[in-house]
Amino acid sequence: MSVTEAYHLIKSEIPEQVNLIAVSKTVSTDKILEVYNEGQRAFGENKVQELLFKYNELPKDIEWHLIGHLQTNKVKQVVPFVKIIHSIDSLKLLIEINKEAKKINRVIDCLLEFHIASEETKFGLSLDDAIEILTHDDFPMLLNIRIVGIMGMASFTDDIQIVRKEFRTLAAYFRKLKYGYMKYNPYFKEISMGMSDDFKIAIKEGSTMVRVGSAIFGERVKKTEE
Ligand SMILES: *Cc1c(COP(=O)(O)O)cnc(C)c1O
Repeated sequence: MSVTEAYHLIKSEIPEQVNLIAVSKTVSTDKILEVYNEGQRAFGENKVQELLFKYNELPKDIEWHLIGHLQTNKVKQVVPFVKIIHSIDSLKLLIEINKEAKKINRVIDCLLEFHIASEETKFGLSLDDAIEILTHDDFPMLLNIRIVGIMGMASFTDDIQIVRKEFRTLAAYFRKLKYGYMKYNPYFKEISMGMSDDFKIAIKEGSTMVRVGSAIFGERVKKTEE
């Protein structure tokens, strides 16, 4: 199957109200353009260097989503153009993004990243961590960031029951935050969950944003992945 065919197949499996982020990490700019020419505008990258390179090379109406861990010393480089940062895992990171965004008069949309998988290695917050951020004295001063929802990754397993349970947990966290802490924030509405192998389950469990890479672009070479 060509990239174009794979893209249209995936599109046909995603309801209109769910946003598709085409995850293009490790993918060449040629292949990205192929999907761009089919109408796709939202692309996701997990590394800042690669994101900057592709931003410079590719059309400027692409919406770039940063989906990988972000170090505070790299914030400055992505703030001028990034659409959504999916990987907020500390108040410190939010404060840094706010500082850089303020300098250029932007408001950056951010998602709180939760740790829902059983694997130890993945980044992310617990529900208590997230509540601590949202109720922190410094939080209301961050006028140049906007928390628009949450993100999470399920365990890397073939067991659908486990994956479903983790997505349900994430959706439950969303509701807890929405009705407990973000009641007056109309922008807090996104649940970024679901990847190539599990986006259908994620959509059933309430995903508003799926991040699909290999099902569109083909398998990545493993050693350059993380
Ligand atoms: C790589 C990646 C994806 C896409 O993974 P696929 O299995 O290729 O669809 C989604 N989200 C994050 C955070 C990623 O790093």
